[in-house]
Amino acid sequence: MSTAIVVGAGIGGVTAAVALQRCGWQVTVLEQAPELGEVGAGISVWPSAVAALEELGVKGLEKSAVLSRPAGMRTAGGRWVVAAADLGVELPVMIHRAQLHGLVRDEFGPGITVRTGYTVTKLAQDGVGVTINDELHAELVVAADGIRSVVRQALHPQYAGPRYSGYTAYRGIADVPIDDGGGETWGRGRRFGFARLIDGRIYWYATANQSVGQGGDHATVSRNFGDWHDPIPAILAGTPPEAVLQNDIHDLPVPLVPFVQGRVVLLGDAAHAMTPNLGRGACSAIEDAAALARHLAGSGPLSPALAAYDAERRPATTKLVKRSRAVGRVGQLENRVVCAIRDGLFAQGGRLVSLRRRK
Ligand SMILES: Cc1cc2nc3c(=O)[nH]c(=O)nc-3n(C[C@H](O)[C@H](O)[C@H](O)COP(=O)(O)OP(=O)(O)OC[C@H]3O[C@@H](n4cnc5c(N)ncnc54)[C@H](O)[C@@H]3O)c2cc1C
Repeated sequence: MSTAIVVGAGIGGVTAAVALQRCGWQVTVLEQAPELGEVGAGISVWPSAVAALEELGVKGLEKSAVLSRPAGMRTAGGRWVVAAADLGVELPVMIHRAQLHGLVRDEFGPGITVRTGYTVTKLAQDGVGVTINDELHAELVVAADGIRSVVRQALHPQYAGPRYSGYTAYRGIADVPIDDGGGETWGRGRRFGFARLIDGRIYWYATANQSVGQGGDHATVSRNFGDWHDPIPAILAGTPPEAVLQNDIHDLPVPLVPFVQGRVVLLGDAAHAMTPNLGRGACSAIEDAAALARHLAGSGPLSPALAAYDAERRPATTKLVKRSRAVGRVGQLENRVVCAIRDGLFAQGGRLVSLRRRK
């Protein structure tokens, strides 16, 4: 049986393990954390990623995820700029990250071995296989070790690596009874968004311009957004302060590095970390895994299959990295006049799309 090592057990790594298992590979997953899991936040899963999960045989999404309601974009004062109900846009399902991670892990069969508390520091390859940390060998390595991937750094030492976007993100889950379809609110240099999870709790996220490493917590978010329109103050009040996550937002510069070198494949944030503005980073990792399975299916040689994976996934994710960064740039504008023009243009665009749809 062919052997593979997956480095990293985030959403990308566990999905890659299931994908390889489907192709009949014997898989070892190496994760540096002491146990498997995901952070306490929600995640949007777009239809293309739902289809990829189905393709990989991951079951139970319909019982754990809920379709987002059409919402739209408001100003900090609560005026609707664009009502998405009029736009006919495709909608993602919302799910708790830990539940998504768990559903994928439920598909782990006897062909997958997991080693937690194992940090990959070194890798070497030749024509027949790859050696990790001078002790583990496999015919293929899938590096799903995140935005600061040591594998990517080893393969591409000249590549610049993560760059700071200029803003930080906060996330939380609130237990509050509110009846609001959610959506995003754009202010000046700050945004707030929320959506309902299947159990009725509210997953929210917020962004704010600040220098890298400045940090922030529940009190900072409350200071920044506590006087925004309802139900934002209630959502913040209903969030346990200690459960607020804060992450400075980075992405990878384009051109992205090749996703394949010899017998080593990059997948997920290790290959194409993007800002979260489109909510597509984890979805792309899932789609990478499904693409890898499709190209590895059958008994053909490895090299053309991996080249086909790179040819499919690198251009698609490059576009998302660029689009996501551009959306962030517009969303984080600060100048009062420029923001008013931005909101006016969005409102105008929304009206045009809605009119065209009705015709
Ligand atoms: C605020 C925010 C909101 C987001 N919202 C969404 C959303 O709604 N929808 C969406 O699709 N995406 C979203 N994303 C993006 C998404 O979170 C990421 O794209 C996704 O989690 C990446 O998964 P990954 O498995 O590639 O990497 P990671 O989740 O970073 O996992 C990497 C794993 O590798 C392990 N690891 C790292 N180095 C080593 C090593 N040397 N040895 C062993 N193990 C190692 C780590 O411990 C980790 O478990 C969001 C991101 C942020 C910051």
